[in-house]
Amino acid sequence: MTNSDYKIIVGLEIHVQMATRTKMFCGCELVFAAEPNSRVCPVCLGLPGALPVMNRQAVEFAILTATALNCKVAEFTKWDRKSYYYPDLPKNYQISQYDLPIGSNGYIEIPVGDGVTKKIRICRVHLEEDAGKNIHTAGSFSQVDLNRAGTPLLEIVTEPDINSAEEVRLLAMELQRIVRFLGVSEADMQKGHMRFEPNVNLHIKKDGSKHETPIAEIKNLNSFKALEKSVGFEVRSQLDNFIERGEVMQSGNKKTFGWDDVKEVTVLQRGKEEAHDYRYFPDPDLVPVVVDEKWLGEIKGGLCELPLKMQGRFVSQYGLSDYDASVLTTDRATSEYFDSAVKAGGDAKRVCNLITQTGLKTANEKGCGVAQLGIEPKRLAELAKMTDASQISATAAVTIFVKMMESKEQPGEIAEKLNLLQKSDAGELEKIVDEVITANPQAVEDAKSGDKKSKKAHGFLMGQIMQKTKGTANPQVVAKILGTKLKA
Ligand code: ZN
Ligand code: MN
Repeated sequence: MTNSDYKIIVGLEIHVQMATRTKMFCGCELVFAAEPNSRVCPVCLGLPGALPVMNRQAVEFAILTATALNCKVAEFTKWDRKSYYYPDLPKNYQISQYDLPIGSNGYIEIPVGDGVTKKIRICRVHLEEDAGKNIHTAGSFSQVDLNRAGTPLLEIVTEPDINSAEEVRLLAMELQRIVRFLGVSEADMQKGHMRFEPNVNLHIKKDGSKHETPIAEIKNLNSFKALEKSVGFEVRSQLDNFIERGEVMQSGNKKTFGWDDVKEVTVLQRGKEEAHDYRYFPDPDLVPVVVDEKWLGEIKGGLCELPLKMQGRFVSQYGLSDYDASVLTTDRATSEYFDSAVKAGGDAKRVCNLITQTGLKTANEKGCGVAQLGIEPKRLAELAKMTDASQISATAAVTIFVKMMESKEQPGEIAEKLNLLQKSDAGELEKIVDEVITANPQAVEDAKSGDKKSKKAHGFLMGQIMQKTKGTANPQVVAKILGTKLKA
């Protein structure tokens, strides 16, 4: 079958860990890789009589994210118990939000290349608590670490508007960028801060009729690569099953799969529970949450320019390529740093090059962000200006950039000290050009000849002049003087 005969339909469910100091309903601190069961208390252990208390910061983070995702924020919301039994869930229920999610009916815009964006509708955004972790050590037993139990998670559910494995990855990456810009999550994939569950099926046209393949839900994916690959695998697998066995959707044949990262295949896990299996009911231990206008206004005050909008602005306002703009808007600190340097008078493309070519590399080596390298936006702008005015070469700019990290000196002072200022004084340079011309009559003749020797001879003469000035001459000025002299 060709591509045009079927359409890929994907909806995505994402769990994002909120960057609060403590857990969702108790005062236990959130510490990554702490000693197992060292961050627990009667509340998150589910001991009888312990009462949960809502983490206000988590709710504010959730509302801020819901707003950024263009959702309607609920004026009234509550907490519900989602009952199920599992060793990592000591209470035998998870506190979640069922019929009144904190946000609903929003959308996220994702970049699909060349500045083009696509809107994916968001069905709901709600807060809930994470479960603990089962550790399957060698031997015939498993252990459970409850440090993670009670961690605030934001669950985001999209409508099935995603139509390729690549789009699924792009959405996940855009969401990571958004929550990092908002400061509501570190969104560190290595630490499991973002987990994905795509629902995949196909709408197939064959012999004039439409068919739908069974929906596959792939659980617990924790990397962009696994997300994209697993969706790609399911698409091919469902297509094969349809062609070979005519497998189509019947009521209730939604299946749950896991992802084998090594073999790169999905593995069937179990039949999917329906909502009624969870016996949702309002948690009697927690009061409902009322979001009045004043509180909502305060939270919305924390909204910033979102990354995709900023990326678009860098293209339209500063004339950057979409690629450069996307690199600069990977995180908020870098994008604001760039923006400030341009506003301080640096040419956008020049500042962009300094940041993306020298800054990011250096920052990577130091394990920090570009904005933390110790070069204020204003000094970076100065450096860009000097390069633009040909006062220094592009190579010298890199040397000065590195020096600027260690001192508070202006780029001009550093350039002078290191003798990196380019000579642009035409009178002085003309003298040197004349000397070189007199000393190399053969090369001059070759350069004037206009045949194939001339380019090489021209290069030789330029080299001699640059050498005489110890590389400090402005090559554009030298080339101009030499050109004029050779024509004479
Ligand atoms: Zn606790
Ligand atoms: Mn959930």
